[in-house]
Amino acid sequence: MRSVVPDYLREALSDVEPDTSGEPAGYIPELAAADPDRLGAVFATTDGEVYGAGDIDTEFTIQSISKPFTYALALADRGFGPVLAKVGVEPSGEAFNQISLESDTGRPYNPMINAGAITVHALAGPPELTPVERVERVVEGLSAFAGRRLTMDEAVCASELEHAHRNLAIAHMLRSHDILTEDPRSVVDGYTRQCSVLVTTRDLAVMAATLANRGINPLSGERVIPEPVVRQVLSVMSTCGMYDAAGDWATQVGIPAKSGVAGGLIGALPGQIGIATFSPRLDRHGNSVRGVSLFERFSADMGLHVMEVPAAARGVVRSNHVVGRGPGAIRVLQLQGGIGFAAAERVVREAVETRPAEVAVAVDLTMVYSIDDVGRRMLLEVVRRLTLDGHEVYLIDPETVVPDPDPGDGGRVTVVGTIEQALNSSTRQVRDSRP
Ligand code: GLN
Repeated sequence: MRSVVPDYLREALSDVEPDTSGEPAGYIPELAAADPDRLGAVFATTDGEVYGAGDIDTEFTIQSISKPFTYALALADRGFGPVLAKVGVEPSGEAFNQISLESDTGRPYNPMINAGAITVHALAGPPELTPVERVERVVEGLSAFAGRRLTMDEAVCASELEHAHRNLAIAHMLRSHDILTEDPRSVVDGYTRQCSVLVTTRDLAVMAATLANRGINPLSGERVIPEPVVRQVLSVMSTCGMYDAAGDWATQVGIPAKSGVAGGLIGALPGQIGIATFSPRLDRHGNSVRGVSLFERFSADMGLHVMEVPAAARGVVRSNHVVGRGPGAIRVLQLQGGIGFAAAERVVREAVETRPAEVAVAVDLTMVYSIDDVGRRMLLEVVRRLTLDGHEVYLIDPETVVPDPDPGDGGRVTVVGTIEQALNSSTRQVRDSRP
């Protein structure tokens, strides 16, 4: 059987192909010369499967799609405090190259507009790096996201540097507010180099998948950035990634995203996939026309909007029954699925409402595939309270989804692999306690 995903991608591409509206970026001469008909789309899953259609191995410059990744590197290298002190996280609702800063602090509104991204470039790597070393830190970091060593398009870089008056103006303004403390020229030079890194649609999808996969590159297995940084970056992408089209994007597509003027567009859907498209003609916001259409279609066809309400935690208690007979009988709460707050709350409620008459109570986790920190703490608290109510509590956990369970203060739990083991133990307890 042939996989359905590449066929789907091919069909989506052929639907948007006739749309030749928009223009390639004109303000960087080298970019204006790009082949406007290129078109590609890639899905990269968080477990490393890569599906693509169209021009997926054509290289083009990353441009503004470097911004979220460099922001991630700066946060990882310097910590949240120093970065947030210099760059805000408020959507500006303005164009990417708007010359504006927060009136009271002089900070750029967010790291996705040029003012923020230029500042962030200077925050990558430790403070003592030279401009050249800083560029190397950025290229090496972007390469880790892509899972291969990336190179730079010197021609595009030189072309943009010759026309970088606006970015220089922004950098000088940042310098006058002491947001930048370095030489504005060398920071714009470094930032322009960062924008000139060459990527393919495939690379971009893997980079996005690394964000979707909690900061671990699904191909190389390398942890590129820590989890709290991923959350920060995805949040900023979802509110500011599409510039002055951020609101339309958030409602119609609903995938944290970032666009670049060379025609690239990425989206990262937490826990699911990284998506990338490439098509150089841009709309008036500077976003790829066919890329935006493709994302609208992907989101609608596959329910990828992040605000799409997940299947309710309702099904977490698969059954609530008694096994065995007499004093050794056990009340079993058999759970299933993934357990976070909402599911754990259902378990708490089930335990409260059941008021088990049996001495032994087992919580069966055999069909639970994941439990997050709050779910685990709530479950262990249920165990503790059942113990205090006089119950003998078992955790049936053959796959160790709850390692080293410690119900704390007054709580006690026996971990077993099967319900039979719990039953044997319970019957033995009853027998042993007979006078
Ligand atoms: N290098 C470009 C600039 O700073 C990136 C802009 C973009 O991709 N939106 O103008």
